[in-house]
Amino acid sequence: MTEQNGFRPFPRGFATAAIHHDQEPEKWDSMAVVTPIVTSSTYKQHGPANPKQYEYSRSGNPTRDVLENVLAKLDNGKYGLAFASGLGAGVTVLGMLKSGDHIIMGDDVYGGTSRIFHKMTQSYGIEISVFDFTDLSSLKSVIKPNTKLVWTEMPTNPMMRVLDIKAVAEITKEHNLILVVDNTFLTSYLMRPLDLGADIVSYSLTKYMNGHSDVVMGALVTSNEDLYEKLKYLQNAMGIIPSPFDCYQVNRGLKTLALRMRQHSINGLTIAKYLEKHSKVEKVLHPGLKSHPQHDLFKKQASGHSGTFSFYIKGGSTETKTFLNNLKIFTTAESLGGYESLIEIPSIMTHASVPPEHRVVLGITDNLIRVSVGIEDVEDLVADLELGFQKI
Ligand SMILES: *Cc1c(COP(=O)(O)O)cnc(C)c1O
Repeated sequence: MTEQNGFRPFPRGFATAAIHHDQEPEKWDSMAVVTPIVTSSTYKQHGPANPKQYEYSRSGNPTRDVLENVLAKLDNGKYGLAFASGLGAGVTVLGMLKSGDHIIMGDDVYGGTSRIFHKMTQSYGIEISVFDFTDLSSLKSVIKPNTKLVWTEMPTNPMMRVLDIKAVAEITKEHNLILVVDNTFLTSYLMRPLDLGADIVSYSLTKYMNGHSDVVMGALVTSNEDLYEKLKYLQNAMGIIPSPFDCYQVNRGLKTLALRMRQHSINGLTIAKYLEKHSKVEKVLHPGLKSHPQHDLFKKQASGHSGTFSFYIKGGSTETKTFLNNLKIFTTAESLGGYESLIEIPSIMTHASVPPEHRVVLGITDNLIRVSVGIEDVEDLVADLELGFQKI
């Protein structure tokens, strides 16, 4: 999963930045090597309306500031903002729009994003169109004079479809639209959407970026000062901020992001290849496999694939559930991106809220399984899956 296989090279200096950027001990009077958790909600001012730097922790907090600066650096961006959840980050982006505006959203985006985008646009008189970004030929015809924002995910979830971010960005730039890429699945280590032309990168840090399944948090990164000012205003005004302790946790998680993603990539691809050869598997959807129809397009944009992908087993709902119930290491649970391996059935779990007729269109059937391959010993993971297959 490196340059040798035709993927983009891993970003240079990434691990060093994760460990050192904006984290010089000299920043703190204590010379602490590890960023302190500053829990204070308020800060003494030199005199009335004369703050040293901080006034109130919703508006700014030293622990959160460090995390936001590291996040920006890792995405090759100028500005980072952290939010109480990934959805909190998405809702904040929507907060920049006004009634009468129009947004275009991918047809296969995270279920929670789709739910709140439809709900809020309805309540606030914003128009929304759902679009399949894997075919851009008709994108221009969907753009209206009032279109302001385009929201995409890459690869899509759970179908692992790949879109050409550069090509989308050329069109959005031409029409002066804000392009957001939700990069939760790949992280800044495996893909840099800003470098590909996106205006904002959105994250659920809950997943790979934190990587330890013990924090719910989101982030936005941009290099556009005007967008940053608007989003920063909303972060404070709407108050969707994370706690200093959680910021510390995520910053700690980032220290090993490069290491973890390399192992997730290797383990994920090893399992995908094992599944692809298995007689009880119908099809594997993994953009790092040569059999993936957009494998080459994927390699042009990413330095590898994470440990999350999907596959169809042979059989129906019963076989699928029996398979999951017989696994010992893979835990049946929603979410993804932690060091531990998780497995789930999208049609009845993560994507149960997608209308059944739309699930059929997308291919989310009862025998579709999504895995988040962790960083355990891969031989043990293969053995665990083999045990499950023997029971069906
Ligand atoms: C989990 C997820 C979200 C939502 O993030 P939360 O932190 O759960 O609010 C958004 N986008 C993607 C791709 C996700 O996987």
